[in-house]
Amino acid sequence: MRVTLLGTGDTTGTPTVGCDCATCADARARGIERSRFSVHIENERTDESILVDLSPDFRQQFLSHAVPLPDAAVVTHIHFDHLDGLGNAYRVFDDLPVYAANGVDPETGESVAETIRRKYDYLDRVSVHDVTPLASIEICGLELTLVPVEHPPLLCFGLVVVDPETGAKLSLSGDTSYDIPVDSRDRLRDPDLFLADAIVPAALCDRHPLGGSHHDADGVPRSFGTKHMTREGALALADELGANVTRLVHTAHYYPADEAFEEPLAVDGEQYRLDGTGVTRLDTATAESGPTTD
Ligand SMILES: [Zn+2]
Ligand SMILES: [Zn+2]
Ligand SMILES: [Zn+2]
Repeated sequence: MRVTLLGTGDTTGTPTVGCDCATCADARARGIERSRFSVHIENERTDESILVDLSPDFRQQFLSHAVPLPDAAVVTHIHFDHLDGLGNAYRVFDDLPVYAANGVDPETGESVAETIRRKYDYLDRVSVHDVTPLASIEICGLELTLVPVEHPPLLCFGLVVVDPETGAKLSLSGDTSYDIPVDSRDRLRDPDLFLADAIVPAALCDRHPLGGSHHDADGVPRSFGTKHMTREGALALADELGANVTRLVHTAHYYPADEAFEEPLAVDGEQYRLDGTGVTRLDTATAESGPTTD
């Protein structure tokens, strides 16, 4: 399984348009991108691939990174930064199955799958398929499971991807606070590679109107407001899940410039191979394997 991080930023991305903060300036100077969230997963045995979330930056992501267009897509939730790239499918795909959860969201009165069907009913080449959360389905020869996470007020899902041939396992937290239900944590457990929402460092919680939540024993907030994990929360979750390699994603330009590009914060274009025995980083000369969650 080859995993490419196409989009590692939050909803405005880094650099953010019109922003001259030190972090955005540094990203521009160094040519670093954190575009809106998307992950490309390739089954190298079958030459098929799955796209997790349809970023508004879809076009630029596929121009910038040498990965094939996907054979299928999965949508975690209906926020702009995860869904609204689906319009890019127009005249690009002959056929694109999109998989999403089937449970009705009390907030919208429809499921994630139904919202996608309604918003994109003009795309004849896109078919939307209902998925039951916590039940695994096979897509492109890989086993996928959507796991409910906590991203109020909308329903949102993390994702577990297992290669049934090798046992390689990728877990994504999805957009979520630290308050992930136990059943979901059990499914996410022991991944070779864990991609965790870490929108800002815990120290920035005092800038959120609701402050932080889900404090640890030392009083450090593991959630920023109610919708996302702090860096500290994401790392605590990675630790609890026993992740082998962790990359922090969905990060905002609010990280101070001296922390924004430190490990283990991901940037666009990172690529990993999961072969069931470990994780190899493919986009840099230095291969890494083993416990590198620091
Ligand atoms: Zn900025
Ligand atoms: Zn979201
Ligand atoms: Zn998001």
